[in-house]
Amino acid sequence: MRKLFIDGTFTDSVERRVRTIQNPATLEVVDEVFDAAPGDARRAVLAAKQAQVAWRHHPAVERGKVLHEIARALREDRATLSELLTREGGKPRIENLDEVEWCAACFAYYAEVARNSHGNSVPPVAEHQVNFTIKEPLGVVTAIAPFNYPLLLMTWKVAAAIAAGNSVVIKPSELTPLSTLRLAEIGFSLLPKGVANVVTGTGADVGEPLVVDPDVACVAFTGSNAVGTRIAVKCAEQLKRVNLELGGIDPLIVFEDADVEAAAHGAAWARFLNSGQVCTSAKRIYVCESVAREFIDRFVAHTETLRVGNGMDPATDLGPLISEVALKRVEDQVKRTLGAGAKLLAGGKRIDPLKNGKGWFFAPTVITDVTPGMPAHTEEVFGPVAAIQVVRDGDAAIALAAASEYGLGANIFTRSLKNAMKAMHEIKAGTFWINDPLTDNDAAPFGGMRKSGIGRELGEEGLDAFRETKHVHLDYFGEKKSFWFPNKTRSGEIPS
Ligand code: NAD
Repeated sequence: MRKLFIDGTFTDSVERRVRTIQNPATLEVVDEVFDAAPGDARRAVLAAKQAQVAWRHHPAVERGKVLHEIARALREDRATLSELLTREGGKPRIENLDEVEWCAACFAYYAEVARNSHGNSVPPVAEHQVNFTIKEPLGVVTAIAPFNYPLLLMTWKVAAAIAAGNSVVIKPSELTPLSTLRLAEIGFSLLPKGVANVVTGTGADVGEPLVVDPDVACVAFTGSNAVGTRIAVKCAEQLKRVNLELGGIDPLIVFEDADVEAAAHGAAWARFLNSGQVCTSAKRIYVCESVAREFIDRFVAHTETLRVGNGMDPATDLGPLISEVALKRVEDQVKRTLGAGAKLLAGGKRIDPLKNGKGWFFAPTVITDVTPGMPAHTEEVFGPVAAIQVVRDGDAAIALAAASEYGLGANIFTRSLKNAMKAMHEIKAGTFWINDPLTDNDAAPFGGMRKSGIGRELGEEGLDAFRETKHVHLDYFGEKKSFWFPNKTRSGEIPS
């Protein structure tokens, strides 16, 4: 049984409701956690509020030291954390080792960046004046994370927020809370008590109270559009800062001049990583007619080599989907896309790779003859389903790729700088990848345009998401000014 982490202590929930966390590959119980109550959320906010008073006055270099210690703790615990991530979420362990390392790198990055950035000196408008800006923390930040990269997407918020002098209350996904509680044990416990708190539970009982709490200054959310929109409305009612990292139906274009072998393997990586449960998965694939046959043949052949299984097995490429609900949703989306006239070339159904009738596995799936309007290109399919549309040429591909309500990421494969730059300018996307899909960089901002979100994580932008800018104006002569009352106009001197 894993407890809540509030005010530096592992503590029981006030209502003591318990939830079991199930391994989606084996359906074994991994552990139990509390399904906390609104009263627990409030306790955590009060602890965070109290802790932030002192934390904001710690010099950034001192805050940075603790962030570096958290990075070290993550690296030392990588074996345990990666196993826990696989057992609660299903993702292959080798990818979870990467996830732990990326978290460590992000804590180390913000430890230094926050030390390096505290505002600007501004040229004054008159003599003997000094103008500068300082960056101030917001206060208490609520960080709400999804299931698919439980530690990483929490870290992108929390490392930046605490480096900037905020305190945080973290709500992990109710499906994958264990790795975050483990990080509380080995990492957040190194912080002054109350600076980082973890409250497990549902969106309704914990998430929403943490959004509307009047002592929360900012909500940083990663998750679905439906929940993100609801949170945006709640925050608007209180004029509260909000950062939203939402869903996407990202395009991937294979141009006529692409290295087709590289594109086939890159597109499979971009679509099937984490069994397609990635916000920036290549969910709409457009391939130019002249290379379509070769691309599709290579893509299908490669797909058929992918090994689906328990993520603890080092030979596994794709693990299970997170839950039965998720599996049924993907099954339904594939069925409706095929029903609308698309053609199935591989997969298309749930499978039983462990041969015991357990686990939420879906075969890596390839669908062609997709046309605009089919579910696989208009709904976010959070599963291993590659939906390919063959197009006349690069211009047609760019036009289709750009015609979306979303704008999270976009991928292209081309050897032509002209194609690359044209596509980059035409397609609205927070991240644009050329010949190297889905590679992130702590120093570069990540986020979505249009319905994929508001705000950015990572980079300096990711720090500013958790800071206010204050302009300071100082006159070091301090003399009486000639333009102070009475107004010149009152004495009859009206300017012509
Ligand atoms: P989800 O929206 O169902 O849940 C996300 C989190 O919100 C969970 O912790 C959940 O408990 C919480 N929540 C639910 N209702 C809430 C409420 N009313 N108030 C406050 N919190 C609430 O999303 P999910 O299924 O965990 O994740 C998948 C989605 O996340 C996909 O749409 C995916 O594209 C998106 N995603 C986006 C990014 C990004 O960076 N843009 C990254 C990963 C995932």
